[in-house]
Amino acid sequence: MENPVNSLQKMLDVNIPIVYIDDYDFARIDEIISKACGSDIVEWNPATGVTNFLSKCSIRRDASLNDFLAEKYADDIESVKPDYIVLREIASYLDDPQTISLLTHIAQRKLYDREYDTSIIISDYGLTIPNQLLPYTSILNIDIPDEADIERLIEEHLEANDVDKEKFTDKDREALMPSLRGLSSFEIDRVLDMAISVNGTLSDKDKEMILQQKKAQVKKSGLIELVDVKESLDDIGGLNKLKDYLKDKSMVMKYLGLAQKNKIDTPKGVFIVGMPGCGKSLCAKATASQFGCPLLKLDMGSMMGKYVGQSESNLRRAIKIAEAAAPCILWIDEIEKGFSGIGGNNDIMTRMFGFFLSWMQDKTSSVYVIATANNADNLPPELKRKGRFDEIFCVELPNNEEREAILKVHLNKRKQIDNVKNLAPLVKKTDGFNGADIESVVNQSLEELFVKELQNNNGDKGDIKVTLTMDKLLEVATNTVSISKSCKPQIDKMAEIFKDSKFKSAT
Ligand code: ADP
Repeated sequence: MENPVNSLQKMLDVNIPIVYIDDYDFARIDEIISKACGSDIVEWNPATGVTNFLSKCSIRRDASLNDFLAEKYADDIESVKPDYIVLREIASYLDDPQTISLLTHIAQRKLYDREYDTSIIISDYGLTIPNQLLPYTSILNIDIPDEADIERLIEEHLEANDVDKEKFTDKDREALMPSLRGLSSFEIDRVLDMAISVNGTLSDKDKEMILQQKKAQVKKSGLIELVDVKESLDDIGGLNKLKDYLKDKSMVMKYLGLAQKNKIDTPKGVFIVGMPGCGKSLCAKATASQFGCPLLKLDMGSMMGKYVGQSESNLRRAIKIAEAAAPCILWIDEIEKGFSGIGGNNDIMTRMFGFFLSWMQDKTSSVYVIATANNADNLPPELKRKGRFDEIFCVELPNNEEREAILKVHLNKRKQIDNVKNLAPLVKKTDGFNGADIESVVNQSLEELFVKELQNNNGDKGDIKVTLTMDKLLEVATNTVSISKSCKPQIDKMAEIFKDSKFKSAT
C-alpha cells in the first residue's frame, strides 16, 4: 500500500486541479493533507464557512460556498492565496450548476494559467463527482494497511519507543497482527502508542485492548449494530446440514493461521435463503457464539438512505467498519432489500452491488459474511454464483423431525420437557408451522395456563407453578393460524422457487 501522503503529494505535483479524498475519518484526512501541503491551506465547510484549516476557527461563517469559490477564481492572483483549498463535506452541494461551473473554472485556470496555482482538495465520503468535473479530478482512496504495512508500523513503534526487541517475540507478533487488521494506519498508530505507553512494551496481552477499541468504533458508527448473542447452535431445532457446515467453518476460522499455512482459503461467508421465521436469524446469532467472535448486523432496509448516493457511501463505510472489527461476523439481514432487481438504469444501485461483489470476491480478511433473505426470486444471479459466498443454503418449513426438534428446544428452554412425553400428536398438528409459530404455541399454552391458575388461586400466588399438558398444546395449536395459512400464496410461491433452485438444503 502506498503511503497516502505520498500519493497526495504526487497528485498535486503533477498539477491535478481537484483531488477527491473518499473517506470518513476527517481527523486522519486532515493529517494527510497537512503533511502533504504544509500550512498554506484554507478550508470551507457547511458548518463554519471559511475556516482556518489548522485551528478550525471560523474566519467567515456566513460566506457561501459559491461566494468563496468565486473569490478564489478572482483575477487578482495575490488575493487567491493560499494555494490549497480544502472543501469538506460538500457532496450534497455538488448538484448546484453554479458550484460545478465555479469548480470547473478554477480547475481550468489552474491548468492553463501559469501564475495561478490553486489546487482543490474535496474531502467527503460517498463518491458523487459530477460528470463535468471528472476530467479534472483524481480520487485518493485511503486503503487499510495490509500485513506488510502492519509489520512495518509495529517495527516503527518498537524502534521509536526504544522497546527491547528481544522481548517482543514471534508469538506476540502472531497474536497482535490479526487484531490490528482492518484498522487504518492512523488508528494502528494510536492503539500501538496506547499499548506502549501503558506497559512500556508490546505483547500478546494487548490484543484485548485493541479488540475493545475496535468494538468502540463500531458502536460509534451507527450504521452497524453490535448484536448481543446468547444463542448457540443447540438452540436451533433441525437444520442439521447447515449446523454441521457452520461447525466445520468455525474450526477453520478458529485455526485460521494454521489453515492458511495449509493453503486453505479463508472462509468468505454463507448465504441463507428461506421461509420467514424458520431460524435464519437464529443461525446468524448462533454462528457468532460458535465462532467466538462479535456479530455485526447490517440492516439493508435502513442502509438504503434517503438519498441514494448516501446508500453507496453507507455501504462502503459499513464494510470498512466490519474490516476494522475483524475477526467478526457481518450479518447482512434482508439482503434482497438492497440488491433485488439490480440492472435497469439505477446506476448507483448497480455500482453499490458491484462494489459489494468485488469486495466479497477479493476478501481475505476474517470478516465472515452471513447474508439472509426471505425472497430469492428477484436476486441478481451474480450474487448466487460461486466465488462470492462459499455456499448457499435454503431453509424450508420444518419437516416432522425438525418440528419435533424445535418443540424440544422450546420446551426445554421453559423447563417443561418432562411434562409432555409423547410429542407425536403435536408434531402432526403443527404441519405447515414455522419455528416462530411453534415457539408461539409453547409460549401461549404456558401463558394461558398461568393466567387460569392466577384466576383460580385465591391463596398465596407465590406458589403457582405451571405444568404444561399435551391437551393444552394441541388446543392452542388448533387455534393457531400458521404462516402457511396466513400467507398461503407467498409461501406456496416461495416453496416453488426453492424447489427449482439449486441451493443446498439446510435440512
Ligand atoms: P428468520 O428465518 O425469519 O430469520 P428467526 O430466526 O428470527 O427467523 O426465527 C424467529 C424465532 O422463531 C426465533 O427467535 C426462534 O425462537 C424461533 N425459531 C425459528 N426457527 C427455529 C428453529 N429451527 N429452532 C428453534 N427455534 C426456531
